[in-house]
Amino acid sequence: MAEDGEPLGAGPSVRRRQIANALNLSTVLGLGLAGLGGARLTQGPGGLLLAERYRWSFPTGAAFTVGDVVITSSTFSSLLSRHPDLLRHEEHHAQQWMRCLGLPFLPLYLASMGWSWLRTGDRASRCVFERQAGLARGGYVESPTRPLGPVLARGLRRLQLPLRGRGPRRARPA
Ligand SMILES: [Zn+2]
Repeated sequence: MAEDGEPLGAGPSVRRRQIANALNLSTVLGLGLAGLGGARLTQGPGGLLLAERYRWSFPTGAAFTVGDVVITSSTFSSLLSRHPDLLRHEEHHAQQWMRCLGLPFLPLYLASMGWSWLRTGDRASRCVFERQAGLARGGYVESPTRPLGPVLARGLRRLQLPLRGRGPRRARPA
């Protein structure tokens, strides 16, 4: 793994990732999203494809990576001036897409994001994928964990409220 300040990966490991993410269709999905969002595509370092000025507001975040495609609604020069190691962070996500064999990355990432939110109230802090990619590199701050009990109790109360408010059902007239 590259340390901060080192160039992004090169050579056979990048080539392997590019082939894997092409075959598992995640890069195709990334290119499709970038195209639909009207993003401008350029070749980036480490075999990444950079898509900027993406028009949609979802998903949120400075940038997101699908396969080998890093997509942002901003521009990379602006992002990298604020987070110089962002592409190294996104390179990890490209590798994660490969290791998850493509699309299974999405439900795994969402589950991990949900767990992070439960534990900290923040979607990235305890997300194993974001931690592996480097929280600071991605512009995230580590949040302290919170006790699960009160969070779950609050969630349960919210679920019960609509049920209580409904009252006894009346029989429909025939
Ligand atoms: Zn990330």
